Amino acid sequence: MVCGLTSCLGSGAAGGLFSSAVQFFAATQCLVGETWPKDSVLQNGSRYDFIIVGAGTAGSALAARLSEVANFSVLLLEAGGDPPIEAIIPAFRETLKASSVDWNFTSVENNITSQALKRGIEQQPRGKMLGGTGSLNHMVYARGFPSDYHEWASIAGETWNWTNVLKYFMKTEHMTDTNIVNNPELMVYHGRGGAIEVSGTNEVMFSIKKFLQAFEELGFKTVPDMTYPNSIGAGCFSHTIRNGERDSSLRALLNNANSTSLHILKDAFVTKIIIENGTAIGIEAVKDDEKFLFYADREVILSAGTFNTPKLLMLSGVGPSEHLRSLGIDVVADLPVGSNLHDHVMVLAFLVADNGTCVSDEAENSMEAIKYLYDRTGFLAKADNMAAYLPLSSSEPTVPEFALYPTCIPQFSPFRSGCLTLGLNEDLCTELHNLNQEYELVTIAAVLLKPKSRGKVELNSINPFDDPLIYAGTFSEEQDLDHFPRLIKMAWSIADTNYFRSKNARVIKPWVEACSNLTESAWIKCMSRAMVTSAWHSVGTAAMGTVVDGDLKVLGINGLRVVDASVMPKIIRGNTNAPVVMIAEIAADLIKEHYSVSRTGTNLNNMTIGNLTASSMPNISQPNINLADVIENNDMINSSLIEVEITNVELITTTDRLSDIDDTVNVA
Ligand SMILES: Cc1cc2nc3c(=O)[nH]c(=O)nc-3n(C[C@H](O)[C@H](O)[C@H](O)COP(=O)(O)OP(=O)(O)OC[C@H]3O[C@@H](n4cnc5c(N)ncnc54)[C@H](O)[C@@H]3O)c2cc1C
Repeated sequence: MVCGLTSCLGSGAAGGLFSSAVQFFAATQCLVGETWPKDSVLQNGSRYDFIIVGAGTAGSALAARLSEVANFSVLLLEAGGDPPIEAIIPAFRETLKASSVDWNFTSVENNITSQALKRGIEQQPRGKMLGGTGSLNHMVYARGFPSDYHEWASIAGETWNWTNVLKYFMKTEHMTDTNIVNNPELMVYHGRGGAIEVSGTNEVMFSIKKFLQAFEELGFKTVPDMTYPNSIGAGCFSHTIRNGERDSSLRALLNNANSTSLHILKDAFVTKIIIENGTAIGIEAVKDDEKFLFYADREVILSAGTFNTPKLLMLSGVGPSEHLRSLGIDVVADLPVGSNLHDHVMVLAFLVADNGTCVSDEAENSMEAIKYLYDRTGFLAKADNMAAYLPLSSSEPTVPEFALYPTCIPQFSPFRSGCLTLGLNEDLCTELHNLNQEYELVTIAAVLLKPKSRGKVELNSINPFDDPLIYAGTFSEEQDLDHFPRLIKMAWSIADTNYFRSKNARVIKPWVEACSNLTESAWIKCMSRAMVTSAWHSVGTAAMGTVVDGDLKVLGINGLRVVDASVMPKIIRGNTNAPVVMIAEIAADLIKEHYSVSRTGTNLNNMTIGNLTASSMPNISQPNINLADVIENNDMINSSLIEVEITNVELITTTDRLSDIDDTVNVA
C-alpha cells in the first residue's frame, strides 16, 4: 500500500470532492458500470474438474485461463460479492478500506512493536469481493527485480527464474505508459496486447514533480520505468488503469472468460477442503446459511490469499501438527503452513512545510467529477504514486533494499479518518491533525523491502468463520530495525533540498512517550519500533519449498495446489499484485501441461499431425515434450508427411514446447 498515502490520509482534492460525492455516485451508477459475472445456480454435490477457492487477484486470473480449455469445467467460489463502484474509479480506492468489502484483518498485539498504533495492532485490509485485494489495492504496477526470482529459482526450480517469469509478466501486460512505450530499450521488458493495461503519463501532480527534483538533488537518478531491471532510482510508477478505470485481473480476465466452462458462486464461504486418503476431492462451503459440498475430479486450488489460504489448509488438517492437535484437528499432513509470514516493513517520517507546498494544479472542485463522467479524465481517473529505491550498498547498485514513498498533504485535509485507517493511535492522529491545521504535512514512508523477520498465521479456533490469528513478527530480527536510522534520516533530508527549504520544511518528531529523552539514532529506532506497520504486501504462508513444490502442489497431498501470494518463498522487492498475476499465469500453464492441454486450451490428446494422433505419439503427455523429438523418434511418420508438417512448424520446434505451437499444427 505504501504507494497511495496521499489519498490514504485524505488529500485536498479528494476531500473537496467529498461534498459532491452523493450526486456523483448517483450519476456514476448510470455512467460507470460493469457487468460482473453472474452467480451460477448449482446443485449441491456437483462435480467439476477444478475448484478454485477465492476470486481475488490470483483466482480471477487462474479461473479465466483454465476456462480457456473447453472441456475443463471450473468452479470458482468467492466469499464476497460484486465490487462497488468505488472499486472502479481510481481516486476512490481509499473508501474501500474498513468497509464491508474488506476482511478487516488485524495483527495480534505483541506489546513490543507498533505500540503507537491504535490498540498496538497493524491494520491488514484485504478485499472480500470479486477481484479480492486486486479490487481495492492502489493499482501500482511493480514486479520485483531479477535477484528476487534468482532466489525463488534456487528454492523452487527454474520455472521461477527471471527469464521465465518475465515472459509471463509480459504475457498479461498491455503497456501504454507514455514514459515507457516509446523507448525501445525499456520496451524489451514489456508486453503489448496482454489483458491488463499498464498506463501512465508524465503529467503528474505538482508535488510529485517537486519530490522527484528533491530526490535528484539528494543524488538519486530519475528513472522513467520503476520496473526496469538494469538501473534503479526515483520515479513514478505505472498503474493498472484502463481509460480511467481500474484494470484488475477481475476486469481484464475473469470478466472476459469463457462462461460455458466456468461456474462462479459469489457470497460462498469455503469452510474446509475435503481430503480423503491423501487426496483433495472437494470442498465444503456455506452460502445463504446453507451448507454445500462440491467435488473436484482433478484438483482443488486455493487462491484465498496470504491469511485465508493457510487458515483453510489448517482447518483441513494440513499444517503444523502441534498446533492442529492443540485444537483437536486430525493431522493429514504435517507442514509449516502459516509460518514464514513476512511483509515490507513501513515506518512513516514527517515534515511540515508552509501552505502552498503541495499545491496541486488539479482543480479541487466538482468539475473533477464532471470531467470524469465526461471522458474519464482528471483527478478521479488517476493514481499518482512515486518512490525512490535505494540499494543496501554500492556493490549492488541495481538491487533495491529500501524504498521511500513521499506524500504531500495540503492544509486542512480530512486527515484524521485516513490516519485512523492507517492505524495510528488517537493521540498521534490528533497531533498530526492539529499540525495540519497550521501547515502542510509531508509524510515519507520508509520501507524495508527484504526483511529478515518472520511472523506466522495460526487458527484462532476450529470455527471457520473466525479470523485467523496474524502474528506479524515485525522486527523479530533486530537487524531489520538497524536499517531505520539511516532510512529515516534520508527521508528527513528532503527538508534540506531547494524547494522544500524555500517552503520552510522542517522535521517533526511525533510524541511517542516511550521514546522521550533519547539520542537521535536511539529515538529513531524507538519510534520505528513503536510506529511500524505493514505495507500490506504480506506473503509466504504456504511457501514454495516448504508447503508447496515448484509446481505449487501441496506436499504430500494429491489434487491440491495453492496459487496466490502465500506461495512466495521470499517477498519480492516491490508491490505484489503483478507478481501474483504472474504466479497465476504460470500455474495455469503448469496445470494445462499436466493435463496435456496446450497453453491456449487445445487438448493435445485430440491433436493430429497428418495421420499421427496424439495417442500414437510416444510421451505425448509429458509436459516438457518437444515436437522435434516426437517427430524424430516416431517411425510411423513417413518422410513426405514430415516434409509437409515440418514446413509449418520448423521455426518453432527447435526451441519451444509442443504446447506453444497448436496454431501451426493441425488440431482436431
Ligand atoms: C490496501 C492495499 C493496497 C495495495 N496496493 C497495491 C498496489 O498498489 N500494487 C500492488 O502491486 N499490490 C498492492 N497490494 C497488494 C496486492 O493487492 C496483493 O498482494 C494481491 O492482491 C494478493 O492477491 P491474492 O490473490 O493472493 O489474494 P486476494 O486478492 O486477497 O484474493 C483472495 C480472495 O479469496 C477470497 N476468499 C478468502 N477466503 C475465502 C473463503 N474461505 N471462501 C471463499 N473465498 C475466500 C477473498 O475474498 C479474496 O477475494 C495492496 C494490498 C493492499 C491490502
